Amino acid sequence: MKILAIGAHPDDIEIFMYGLLCIFKKKKYSINLIVSTDGSLGGTKFENLSQIRKEETIKALKYLAVPEFLDLPDSKLGYNQSHREILREKIDEIYPDLIITHYYKDYHSDHRVLSRLVTDISGHKFPILYCETMMGINFNPNFYFDISEFFLEKKKAIMNHNSQNPSRFVELAHLMNSYRSAQCNAKIGSYAEAYYFRSSFPFTNINKILPNNIEIKKFDIDESYGFL
Ligand SMILES: [Zn+2]
Repeated sequence: MKILAIGAHPDDIEIFMYGLLCIFKKKKYSINLIVSTDGSLGGTKFENLSQIRKEETIKALKYLAVPEFLDLPDSKLGYNQSHREILREKIDEIYPDLIITHYYKDYHSDHRVLSRLVTDISGHKFPILYCETMMGINFNPNFYFDISEFFLEKKKAIMNHNSQNPSRFVELAHLMNSYRSAQCNAKIGSYAEAYYFRSSFPFTNINKILPNNIEIKKFDIDESYGFL
């Protein structure tokens, strides 16, 4: 099985998709990673920020795969033919069984544009799983994955992005992934990543591709059992 994760900026895959990708990696699926923009406008401003962020990203993602960098301009992703074709060529070359990318109602214009470009390009060829938005706003997930086993590694991956003051993103991941876990009535101290899958022809059901590792915990049965 071949999985392709496409992030808008260096560090997006780590913050929003890392736990699920670790689950796929453990299942020995092939993992492909694309970072779309050069990240030249993020966090602290350095002369050579784009190069620094590339090095940070390669270190951060080393457990999963070597990422490919498309070097599109940060904060200027557009619905134009040139950006669409660069993405299309790369996606077709990889030809994945599943794409994971941003949701089209996310906070950052690059996330929104990337999501729509990838959705258009994928058409009826590739199913897409959309990752969480920033702080879950405008996002109503229909898939949850228990990433507790990998949460420490996820935090370490994010912390490689020294140029971005990364502890704020570790805190963000802690908040979001704890909250999503609590929504599944999992124990306090566990973590989940949430995703949205919108079925479209011929991808009406992708359950065979996805791990099914969330247990249903009944409410108020045993205090040691779940969150409530
Ligand atoms: Zn981003």
